[in-house]
Amino acid sequence: MKDAESDVSGLRLLAVHAHPDDETITMGGLLALCADRGMSTSVICCTDGKVATIFDPEYAAKEDEIRPRLKEIREAELRRAGEILGVSEINFLGFGDSGMAGTETNNAPEAFWRADFDEAVGRVVAHIRRFRPQVVVTYDGNGGYGHPDHIQAHRVTLVAVEAAYHAVYPDLGAPWRVSKLYYTAFPRSEVRRIAEMARAAGMKPPFGEADPDSLDFVTPDELVTTRVNCRDQLSRKREALIAHRSQLTEEFALLSVPEEILREHFSDEFYQLVFSRVPTTLPETDVFAGLTGEASPPA
Ligand SMILES: [Zn+2]
Repeated sequence: MKDAESDVSGLRLLAVHAHPDDETITMGGLLALCADRGMSTSVICCTDGKVATIFDPEYAAKEDEIRPRLKEIREAELRRAGEILGVSEINFLGFGDSGMAGTETNNAPEAFWRADFDEAVGRVVAHIRRFRPQVVVTYDGNGGYGHPDHIQAHRVTLVAVEAAYHAVYPDLGAPWRVSKLYYTAFPRSEVRRIAEMARAAGMKPPFGEADPDSLDFVTPDELVTTRVNCRDQLSRKREALIAHRSQLTEEFALLSVPEEILREHFSDEFYQLVFSRVPTTLPETDVFAGLTGEASPPA
């Protein structure tokens, strides 16, 4: 039998995210794991993240000076995180950060939320046809937690993945058919487990006392198809998160919980398979299950 680990180099994964830091928080382990396995990864960051809260105390103290440069600062933070995770390429689409739902910045003309949809889809189609990923990862229909830019990234990616292999956007390269599409996921059972462990250790549960069923960023377990062990990538994920200095808060369990405990208990990442054009058996432990380095799906 062929060793599944040996014949996957050369495969490619594209991740479409809304803001710098989303790639690390939701799937930093998987990106580093791909690098370890010799796969190429491409991260698309749709917005410039310029209206985000500035958390770093030193930056926050001089917000007047930092805010106008936040776009450049966050771009540099993402580039550094990408280096740490071994991401092959990072592409900024340059749309404006729309800010949290219901805020005034949602109405800014450059806000990603208000972007011309066909144009935004075309931008992602161009990257899909050039990079030719077998696997694409983005957010679910709630954008993970309801942020307008995450929801827009979800919509644009879904349409772009389909459009990329049809006779539309003819000027944007030869058609390419993505083999597997995933959403990032945070299973409800994990939130419960984390809360229980925190309480047992005399700590406050990181997501508060709310019932996990009421949290809008959790994924019902029955939708979670894929569990990826990222134990050997955990320290790089942590380091990549630290690279997003402007966005760091003490609330990140990835930073506040000792690394040995994270490695032992919380190193897995979770995904929801949306479709697969190659045979795979659920549940999976590998987003590349069913794919081989030699086989390319028909365009
Ligand atoms: Zn985000």
